Amino acid sequence: MKALVYEGPRNVVVKDMPDARIEQPTDVLVKITTTNICGSDLHMYEGRTNMETGRILGHENLGVVVEVGPAVVHVKVGDRVCLPFNIGCGFCKNCEKGLTGFCLTANPGMAGAAYGFAGMGPYSGGQAEYLRVPFGDFNCLLLPPDAQEKENDYVMLSDIFPTGYHAAVLAGVEAGDSVVIYGAGPVGLMATIAADLKGASKVMVVDSHPDRLRLAEKLGAIPVDDSDGGAVDRVLELTGGEGADRGCECVGYQCTCQGHEVPNLTMNNLVKSVRATGGIGVVGVFVAEDPGSPDELMKKGQLAFDFGTFWMKGQHMATGQANVKAYNRKLRDLIAADKVKPSRIISHELPLEQAPEGYRNFDERKEGWTKVVLKTAA
Ligand code: NAD
Ligand code: ZN
Repeated sequence: MKALVYEGPRNVVVKDMPDARIEQPTDVLVKITTTNICGSDLHMYEGRTNMETGRILGHENLGVVVEVGPAVVHVKVGDRVCLPFNIGCGFCKNCEKGLTGFCLTANPGMAGAAYGFAGMGPYSGGQAEYLRVPFGDFNCLLLPPDAQEKENDYVMLSDIFPTGYHAAVLAGVEAGDSVVIYGAGPVGLMATIAADLKGASKVMVVDSHPDRLRLAEKLGAIPVDDSDGGAVDRVLELTGGEGADRGCECVGYQCTCQGHEVPNLTMNNLVKSVRATGGIGVVGVFVAEDPGSPDELMKKGQLAFDFGTFWMKGQHMATGQANVKAYNRKLRDLIAADKVKPSRIISHELPLEQAPEGYRNFDERKEGWTKVVLKTAA
């Protein structure tokens, strides 16, 4: 099968790889029809993780079931399914509680498994013609009859839509809250939609890319341009000097200030721009070590975090990978009911063969390259 393979920093190629196949009785084999490039892929693409060369990337996957293992009872050949990026077993202590981002079975010795992801188990990604889905009955989200017509909406259920929603949940967004979101990438834009769904009275989105800020504005948010580093002051102005009720981190450890990486920037800006006793949800990725970081602390996975101010303000924070399965069913139903349209943020639809071009442009955050979806030949 054709697949997108990581061959080293900023070097990905589409080439022939051994076909994905059923390996366990509980597996499902999916023919991928749409698969996205994610901001998380970029940390790997740039060589800023311990991703092994030769592996297939891609964790935002949707397709058609072509084969099921003998122990699969619910999912059937021909079903159109969207796959959560995290792989859960369904029966461990965390999965039972809906915390499928921290499955204790799928990646022994670590909490959390995913397709084509550094440090999250041996599973191949879905930027390929076929994908092996472990624990298929648990992990396949069945799609409604309009699956093909709304494929570009439903594929967002694999990761960024639930992840944006998770950011709002972790921050504790409730009806009437003001919310500041750092990052107007795909995840920040989905957090914008999520804050809206939860009834936020005011959503402010911080970034320095004008095209992305325009998209945030189209989604109903107040764009806050941080190209002069003045975002915190503007958020304080917009909230009567108090700060926002809730804050979402949708950037991660490679956040920048005027083009330079400053890994503690968004976290400390959140402490400053969220009010006393407010909540902060962090879904942007931070890593346990980053030898390639220009920052001495970050090399060891540490941040110079304004803990004193955070404590004095009595704020609370929650973090981590999104438990996609905790939300994807309900968010699917909102798409089916035409209440939300996450495909609005897609900027480019490319054939899988052109994935390297998609990676290059998305990685450069080139004007207009917000979200790339890849299509495999029918
Ligand atoms: P992205 O890299 O396209 O978006 C990040 C945005 O943040 C960019 O638009 C960038 O300009 C902006 N940014 C950079 N520095 C900033 C700063 N100091 N202040 C405000 N904005 C700043 O990627 P994405 O797909 O939107 O992903 C965002 C993060 O979410 C990544 O770290 C990704 O790995 C992570 N992620 C986490 C989960 C999860 O489950 N927790 C899932 C998907 C993605
Ligand atoms: Zn992703």
